[in-house]
Amino acid sequence: MIIAIDGPAGAGKGTISEYLAMKFDLMYLDTGLLYRALAKRVMTEKVDPTDPIAVANIARTIRVEEVDDHALRGEEIAAIASQIAVINEARTILNDLQRTFCRSVKPPYKGAILDGRDIGTVICPEATCKLFITARPEIRNQRRLLETQMRIDASHEVVSSISQKIAERDQRDTARKIAPLTPAPDAIIIDTSDLTIDEACTKAALYVEKCLLQSGNIY
Ligand code: C5P
Repeated sequence: MIIAIDGPAGAGKGTISEYLAMKFDLMYLDTGLLYRALAKRVMTEKVDPTDPIAVANIARTIRVEEVDDHALRGEEIAAIASQIAVINEARTILNDLQRTFCRSVKPPYKGAILDGRDIGTVICPEATCKLFITARPEIRNQRRLLETQMRIDASHEVVSSISQKIAERDQRDTARKIAPLTPAPDAIIIDTSDLTIDEACTKAALYVEKCLLQSGNIY
């Protein structure tokens, strides 16, 4: 079985996905990290991030194992990732990697969970269960700021520019023509603004259990 999780930055997708992966024995892929890994390589190889052919050439060499890299966290790299994410040629290559990941599920795992922006709409339209995780912009900003402050001793300028970077990124991800950030018609929307982590995870898990029952999956 496949679980698709989509939503904007800082809504709680990652935390909920990790929880569901543990609870339901699923392999987990944070697909945003693939775009971030590509952005990192584009930066280190000094390639023009707006050049579709050059970016696609690097995308062909990206491996799922590259996502395990602390240097991929942070809003600077995320901003480049979202610029690159408008390039159709690069998306097609990363889409194949994500679908291969779904097909690679083996025991003891019982399925896969992917989180991103287009999982329910483009990557896995056949997913057993689709969730769209969102939260009010000010709450999402606060969460990202907190994460950044815990990671680095962020200066005031860094902190104030993060909110702006997240807003620009969400706008770009939502407005792009290819695979924009939008809930699939059959996704349930969970707003985590006024929920604790426990409450959000429990709500998501209850919905997954309901999907599993409806689809005839037994756990
Ligand atoms: O999820 P994360 O914030 O790490 O994603 C970084 C960027 O990668 C997003 O802002 C988006 O532009 C892009 N992305 C995407 N499709 C996905 C996952 C991420 O376009 N499935």
